[in-house]
Amino acid sequence: MAIILSGKELAETMRQEMKAEIERLKEKHNLVPGLAVVLIGDDPASVSYVKGKERDCAKVGILSREYKFDADYKEEALLKLINDLNRDIEIHGILVQLPLPNHINEDRVLYAIDPEKDVDGFHPVNVGRMMIGTPGFLPCTPHGIQQLLMRNGIEIEGKHVVIVGRSNIVGKPLAMILVQKKPGANATITICHTRTKNLAEITQSADILVAAAGRPHTVTADMVREGTVVIDVGVNRIEDKTRERGYRLIGDVDFEAVSKKAYAISPVPGGVGPMTRTMLLYNTIQSAKNHAGIE
Ligand code: NAP
Repeated sequence: MAIILSGKELAETMRQEMKAEIERLKEKHNLVPGLAVVLIGDDPASVSYVKGKERDCAKVGILSREYKFDADYKEEALLKLINDLNRDIEIHGILVQLPLPNHINEDRVLYAIDPEKDVDGFHPVNVGRMMIGTPGFLPCTPHGIQQLLMRNGIEIEGKHVVIVGRSNIVGKPLAMILVQKKPGANATITICHTRTKNLAEITQSADILVAAAGRPHTVTADMVREGTVVIDVGVNRIEDKTRERGYRLIGDVDFEAVSKKAYAISPVPGGVGPMTRTMLLYNTIQSAKNHAGIE
C-alpha cells in the first residue's frame, strides 16, 4: 500500500506556521495581512469556495473582506472596485472568484488587478515571472503540489514528471515551476493532453505522475509503474445515494488500484485541495510583507 500524501495534514501544519508568523508581524510591525474576495452571482460551488477562504483567513489571522454582488453586476463597476482595492493599503491580496458571468470579460478583470496584489498568480506579469524564475506570486494549485512533494521528502530533481492536463491554472504552470533551476524543481517534464498519442506508454515512464484532467479514471493501474509517486488533482462529483448530499468527490486516478502499485499517492478529497487553499494564505502573507518591505 502506498504512502498517503495528506494535503489535509500538511495544510494544517503550514497554517499553524502561518498563524505564528502573522502574530509576529502584528507584534513587531503592526502589520495585518488583508485579502479582498470578490464574488459575483450565487453559483453554489463559488459561494462555498468563498466561504472556505474566509474561514481559512479567520483561522490564521488574515483580515478578509468580502464583496458580493448579484449576477448582473456591471463590468465597469467591477473594474472600478478593483482599482479602489489596488490602492487600498489594508488590502494586500485581491481575489476575484471565477468563473465570472458571461457579460464580464474575465481577462480584462484579471489584468486590472495590480500584479503586486495578484495572490492567485494569474496576471500575465506573474506568469512571466514564474517562467523566468524571478520572485512573484505562484498559482496556488501547482505551488501547493510542489510543497506537498517537497515537504513529504519526495525528491523532484532529475525525476521525470508526467503531467496529464495543460490548463493555465494547473498543468502548464506546474511544468513551469518544476522545470526551474532551483531546489524543489530541476525535473524533466512531459505534458500530456487529449491529443497525446500513447498516453499509457508515457505515464508508465513517470517517476512522478500528476493527473489534472478533470475526468474520473483517467489514470488506471495499467498506466502506472511500480514505485511511482502519483498526485491526483482532479475533483469530480459522482452520484452517491448513500450520502445525504447525493454525491461524493473522486479524483482522476483509480485510487483503489493505483495505490497498490504507487510508492506514494495523494487522496481526493484531502490531497491537493487543502494545499491550494493554503497557498492562497501564503501568497497573501508574502504580499503583505512585500508591501511593508519586510524580508
Ligand atoms: P481543464 O481546464 O478542463 O483542463 C483539463 C486538461 O486535461 C486539458 O488540458 C485536457 O486536454 C486534459 N485532458 C482531459 N481529458 C484527458 C484525457 N483523457 N487524456 C489526456 N488529457 C486529458 O481543467 P483544470 O482546470 O486544469 O482542472 C483539472 C481538474 O483539477 C478538474 O477536475 C478540477 O476540478 C481540478 N482542480 C482541482 C484543484 C484543487 O485545488 N484540488 C484546483 C484546480 C483544478 P485538452 O487541452 O487537449 O483539452
